[in-house]
Amino acid sequence: MSTEHTAYIETLAHVNCGECDGYWGLSDITKADLSGTEWSCPHCGHSQPIGEFVES
Ligand SMILES: [Zn+2]
Repeated sequence: MSTEHTAYIETLAHVNCGECDGYWGLSDITKADLSGTEWSCPHCGHSQPIGEFVES
């Protein structure tokens, strides 16, 4: 059995609500998965699609 560490690269989408500006994260998701569907803000319940992908 190996004693080396293991690593896994996680993709995380940082989402800011268009209504309350609350932040939440969606992990292991692609841009295609994020597009064309509505997401509900966990803070205020505001439901909208992602309007803009900001370059990091
Ligand atoms: Zn919100």
